[in-house]
Amino acid sequence: MKKYLVVGNPIEHSFSPKLHNHWIKKNNIDAVYDKKQINEGDIKSLIMEIKKNKINGINVTIPFKKSVVPFMDELSSEAKESQSVNTIYFQNEKVIGHNTDISGFELGIKYSKFDIKNKIVFILGAGGVVSSIIIALKKMGVSKIIISNRTKSKAEDLKIFFKDLEIISWGETPNCDMVINATSIGLKNEDEIKLDYSALGPNKFFYDIIYNPKETIFLKKAKLFGNRTENGKLMFIYQAHQAFTIWHKLMPDIDAETINLLG
Ligand code: NAP
Repeated sequence: MKKYLVVGNPIEHSFSPKLHNHWIKKNNIDAVYDKKQINEGDIKSLIMEIKKNKINGINVTIPFKKSVVPFMDELSSEAKESQSVNTIYFQNEKVIGHNTDISGFELGIKYSKFDIKNKIVFILGAGGVVSSIIIALKKMGVSKIIISNRTKSKAEDLKIFFKDLEIISWGETPNCDMVINATSIGLKNEDEIKLDYSALGPNKFFYDIIYNPKETIFLKKAKLFGNRTENGKLMFIYQAHQAFTIWHKLMPDIDAETINLLG
């Protein structure tokens, strides 16, 4: 039986086992997908498990998408460009790091039908997933990307790769068409980002890449202030879909049953 894992810290919120095990069952594959909470020091031994074929594939979530990069033998072009890995597998005696968040995010936005071309986008956060979001936004032709992160130096580091980013201080409110929460604030129900909603809205698109809980305080408040909102469920499904396709060499269905499975 093949074994797959999602690793992160925290990890309870992850619906990856639910979704992958659903597709595994639907496609009669002899495999199991679990979740595991790890610490930074566990990465090396985890990669050894991949090399020994004890684990056949790993998804990486917060906060390790960047810290696993040095442990890879090879990076896909997407992982190289973003310096962020969320999907790991073993091929031709090499541990390969890949990134399915870029196209997951792009397909999620397309599914939402928000016309993003030439829009000004404000991103909150500068963690492991943000380089993937920037790459996807640029591909979709946004006119400007503004970033704010609690630790400003991390947002400034992104400017090394993406020169035209505008960095503003945490707590500042820019003029924009879309606001993306790419922080981990909201994973706990009571988590709240301090934002000036009356200055940001109304009639903007607020997108939280968090999908569990389904509606964060960020989305609830944005709605109250007259904005359109969406969570990261479809981004999550699309990034998982591609990881599944790479590992099992077959494309699972994204149908109403799949979408409803995640609430
Ligand atoms: P990460 O590397 O751990 O980064 C976390 C980010 O959140 C950093 O920018 C951090 O700021 C900020 N943050 C955390 N606690 C904060 C607080 N109390 N106040 C202000 N800022 C805070 O995580 P990641 O991999 O980038 O993922 C970010 C989020 O996206 C997570 O919630 C994850 O579940 C979600 N995600 C969803 C999908 C999907 O498919 N829908 C895919 C990937 C990620 P500092 O730099 O100041 O610490």
